[in-house]
Amino acid sequence: MKISKKELNEILNLYKEKLSIKEVSIRIQITSNSTSIYFDESKDEYCIKFNESGKIFDFFHELGHILLTKKTGCLIFSSPPTSAGINNEIIKILDYLINLFVNSNISRIEEIYPLYEAFFKDFISFRYRFKSTSEELAFNICANTEYLFNLRPSDHSIELIKYLALHKESLLQRSSIPRQQYENILPYLSQFREIKYSNDAQKIINFIQQISCKICEVSNYKDKNYINNQVRMVFSDCL
Ligand SMILES: [Zn+2]
Repeated sequence: MKISKKELNEILNLYKEKLSIKEVSIRIQITSNSTSIYFDESKDEYCIKFNESGKIFDFFHELGHILLTKKTGCLIFSSPPTSAGINNEIIKILDYLINLFVNSNISRIEEIYPLYEAFFKDFISFRYRFKSTSEELAFNICANTEYLFNLRPSDHSIELIKYLALHKESLLQRSSIPRQQYENILPYLSQFREIKYSNDAQKIINFIQQISCKICEVSNYKDKNYINNQVRMVFSDCL
């Protein structure tokens, strides 16, 4: 069933206080494109474009972007970078990593958690068409991080582990990623546990930068200086 703009506004009014985004103005637009968010500076308001067939969790996820910006003071967490020279493939990787923090903050709200859990099952079982190995690896790394640190341990299951393992094996077979290098990334993910609710933009960006560098290194995409420069450009207003 499709969700109307009226229903979304009702949800917004119900949850604004709970999400500590009471004073923020948010405009909702229904679209046939994918759901997204940006900050409209000229009107000093956020605009959420909501896909006409989207799920309520997608809407909460966008509100989570605003919440993350509010907590950290970093606008880029809820509005895509507009400066020239930023590589789209890097943006895609950064977006996956930012979403980890968004989902941590939003899924800790008791009433939203069941929607998050349903989202996660769809997220890992969907057959995506990735444009590149680095993007696919970013998806895989983030799916594992969501599973380990955002999904409650009581919802861990063999079925979900199977999806993660199948995707990993298929990715390793189809790409030139060495298994050991892939495994070497995994220990870095455990830092996420300590910072997943952090208000500190610097800590969040450091994690994002470190993992992006690892993802690009392992998938043989560009070099570390290039990635670091890109990350600095994207987050220049928050550093
Ligand atoms: Zn997002």
